[in-house]
Amino acid sequence: MSTHISEEWMDQNRKAQGLTVLCPRCLNKEWACSRCNGWGYLTPADAACDHKWKEISQKEARDAGIYHAGMCYHVYQCVHCGTTKSQDSSG
Ligand SMILES: [Zn+2]
Ligand SMILES: [Zn+2]
Repeated sequence: MSTHISEEWMDQNRKAQGLTVLCPRCLNKEWACSRCNGWGYLTPADAACDHKWKEISQKEARDAGIYHAGMCYHVYQCVHCGTTKSQDSSG
């Protein structure tokens, strides 16, 4: 069995995640690109905004009605469009 990741596999995986718009930041396969995480593509929603993430506190999240699991859990909100993402740093 090969551990090689084929272009085809990448394509299928990318589309499954809704990443259909070329990333304007890298426009080529740059693995370190933080906007598209190296995929080279973005979802239409992410392509519409060059998110600028700011971590919000547990209280801020609660006030805004955003789920926050507490310790070891980080919630970030885009200062431009208000989209949120969360990350669990305990794992
Ligand atoms: Zn990119
Ligand atoms: Zn945004």
